[in-house]
Amino acid sequence: MSASFAVVGSGPSGMYAADALLKEVPGSRVDVFDRVPTPFGLIRFGVAPDHFKTKNTARQFARTFELDEVRYLGNVEIGRDLSIDELKDNYDAVILAIGSYHDRSLGIPGEDLPGVYGACAFVGWYNGHPDYRDLAPLLTGGGVAVIGIGNVALDVCRVLAKTPEEMQGSDIAAHALDTIQAAPLDNLYMFGRRGPVEAGFTPKELSEVRDLERCAVIVDDAQLPATVEGDFEGREKGVKEKNLTLLRELASQEKPEKPIKMHIGFYASPVEILGETRVEGLRMEHTQVVDGRAKGTGQTFDVPCAAVVTAIGYQALAPEGVPMDGTIIANNAGHVEDNLYVVGWSKRGPSGTIPTNGPDSRGVVDILLGNLAAGAKPGGDIIDTLLAKRGARVVDFEGYKKIAAAEIARAPEGHPLEKFTRIDEMLALLDGVS
Ligand SMILES: Cc1cc2nc3c(=O)[nH]c(=O)nc-3n(C[C@H](O)[C@H](O)[C@H](O)COP(=O)(O)OP(=O)(O)OC[C@H]3O[C@@H](n4cnc5c(N)ncnc54)[C@H](O)[C@@H]3O)c2cc1C
Repeated sequence: MSASFAVVGSGPSGMYAADALLKEVPGSRVDVFDRVPTPFGLIRFGVAPDHFKTKNTARQFARTFELDEVRYLGNVEIGRDLSIDELKDNYDAVILAIGSYHDRSLGIPGEDLPGVYGACAFVGWYNGHPDYRDLAPLLTGGGVAVIGIGNVALDVCRVLAKTPEEMQGSDIAAHALDTIQAAPLDNLYMFGRRGPVEAGFTPKELSEVRDLERCAVIVDDAQLPATVEGDFEGREKGVKEKNLTLLRELASQEKPEKPIKMHIGFYASPVEILGETRVEGLRMEHTQVVDGRAKGTGQTFDVPCAAVVTAIGYQALAPEGVPMDGTIIANNAGHVEDNLYVVGWSKRGPSGTIPTNGPDSRGVVDILLGNLAAGAKPGGDIIDTLLAKRGARVVDFEGYKKIAAAEIARAPEGHPLEKFTRIDEMLALLDGVS
């Protein structure tokens, strides 16, 4: 049986799903849509620029786009250029793989002040996402406080703390590198409302901030418990123990005079962002952890800073007509309704690494195949006509390859590539307009 499939989103979960469909239903056709011209989702726009090797996982997904049965339709947003119903009507099954990378708000006073950024926006800015090209974060006038204590918070602090030499080999966007290096950064703060054991970061990421050239890490030994207590077992417990060992090492490390200090603070929750016309500081409340939950103690302290970055969790933003369940797309083991399915972060929330999405997507494809009627829907042709009628400017995989080649060709010395960060620039390149 052959069939036609649409996958919305070309991040890891969408690409694993496309691979599984092709393997399980040989001869089927798969159209992969993405709202931006460049594929691979957070591999390009989330993974830290100085973790460039991790971005190589995109190569395995690129091979999928070389197959005749697969098309890439970049720069096509579902909900703007095409509706979900149009996909459902024209493909035998539709898989949403739209991620869950929209910032959640803190819900505290001062959150609307200039100088407050969600991690999606901030990470997107230094990773060259077109949506955040013009973020121009306010990094002058003091330190930066990051709310959240997972790997994303560590990424943000590390990218701010590294010297240009330490950023060599990264694909950080030039506009961001210039702004960061020109900023008079002195203190970076990372706050978690719970303790070191509950922190979401992993030992590899934590060890990367240990010996930075211009930044010393400050950890208060008094906040570190003697052992890992709580409901942790096996591998998870091992990770927590390694974190604790590393934190102890950081707490006892000699602190040579370095221009930037990165303070990793636990048991503190934000209550107000301070400032008149822009961020001037952050009011934090000390917490206690009771039964695994953080409770405010009523005691507050203020931290002077010029910017606040919130890394407290993310939510999916579904196209019109798709039901939500809180911050994810409503689903039953990946089935949304009719011939509509969901995979990846938009299915289960923002947790897990790139490979975690593999088994998840394959599991949903198994369920989809169990429900699939004999392939009857036309797939791409009608969709192409609709897109042409609407004047959509589709970027196919050959187009993306031209963009990627030009990014490599214009790389500054010491960097593998320099991303295009504006969609107009990418389209002009494809049109041969310089
Ligand atoms: C800051 C950060 C750093 C990370 N670092 C690492 C790391 O170092 N190593 C690691 O293994 N994992 C890392 N991860 C986790 C990893 O990125 C995720 O597990 C993975 O990207 C989730 O895949 P996804 O396909 O569900 O979502 P995404 O990667 O977010 O892909 C979703 C895609 O859908 C597209 N899309 C959204 N809406 C629409 C629409 N309406 N129409 C068309 N297209 C749409 C988006 O443009 C995007 O391309 C990191 C995550 C973050 C946030």
